[in-house]
Amino acid sequence: MSTVAIIVAAGRGSRAGGLIPKQWQSLAGRPVLAHTLAAFAGMAVVLVIHPDDRDRAEAMAPKARLVMGGATRAQSVRNALEALEGSGVTRVLIHDGARPLVSGALIARMLAALGDHAAAAPALAVSDALWLGEAGLVAGTRDRAGLYRAQTPQAFRFDAILAAHRAHPGAALDDVEVARAAGLDVAIVEGDEDNRKLTFAGDFDRAEAILRARAMDIRIGNGFDVHAFCEGDHVWLCGVRLAHPRGLLGHSDADVGMHALTDAIYGALAAGDIGRHFPPSDPQWKGAASHVFLAHAAGLARERGYKLANCDVTLVCERPKIGPHAIEMANVLASILGVDADRVSVKATTSERLGFTGREEGIAALATCALVKA
Ligand code: MG
Repeated sequence: MSTVAIIVAAGRGSRAGGLIPKQWQSLAGRPVLAHTLAAFAGMAVVLVIHPDDRDRAEAMAPKARLVMGGATRAQSVRNALEALEGSGVTRVLIHDGARPLVSGALIARMLAALGDHAAAAPALAVSDALWLGEAGLVAGTRDRAGLYRAQTPQAFRFDAILAAHRAHPGAALDDVEVARAAGLDVAIVEGDEDNRKLTFAGDFDRAEAILRARAMDIRIGNGFDVHAFCEGDHVWLCGVRLAHPRGLLGHSDADVGMHALTDAIYGALAAGDIGRHFPPSDPQWKGAASHVFLAHAAGLARERGYKLANCDVTLVCERPKIGPHAIEMANVLASILGVDADRVSVKATTSERLGFTGREEGIAALATCALVKA
């Protein structure tokens, strides 16, 4: 069973404004049509274009088969269908080039519908009241019961729609009209509110907002670390030196809070942990200040295009008391991370004298961070 997507993009219409046809206008940094083609990635595509657009179509869609459009939409589709005859194709999806937000889920629904029907089309039931307007005034109402807003891709068994187009006398609103004129039953499949045809300038703004939301890439990471107390007179916690009757044992400065946070960032990036980037076996990191590790993790996030949205560090110990220093710690971490202090939280808890932290054998720290693709 061979399926081809026919993308119809030959129109010259520019109700959306601008000097070029809307399917070639820019949406979120690339032509509308590039988004549409991306939605059908992995499928064989016939792209129906205006002859004037041949060069840019070849550059944008080197894998698509190009077919020149006709004087009407129906003629453009007919040209594509004729070009496919004898190629072994059994199913076609016919889609408006100016509907760039078609989802993979809708495409899958349309193909599934062809299991039971020779023709199927996506549509949404009309939910708003319908008015007749005349000269800016409401001149009447219309019953919306049974009315649908038609969308594409419309799906057909190839032989049936080719025969329908050959039998059709001329212009048609869409391929459903052609199919029905040939006596085909067309099944209605649930459409998708995002799958709008870009017609007016405002449609582009709405489509960009939807694309931005779809592209949002949020990474969450967590980190956990423990260091044991040892001889000493101070500890480093989240970049702040606190006087304490004991020190923390570690290869570096043993800043358990900063280590947990560093691992949270590496975790969000799926980039291992501190030990991978700064092996304890390597003497150059002996006694190292932990801000080197945290700055490295933050830099790696930036390099990969992520911004730190927020982070939250919890220190678990009976002593030293963290509360009086928590704001200073957050400020130090924020400056290493290069973010505003209100994105960094440092807090502490005791473990109610239970366990190793309760017995004051060491300090534990947990950290969480969220990275957002910038
Ligand atoms: Mg550590």
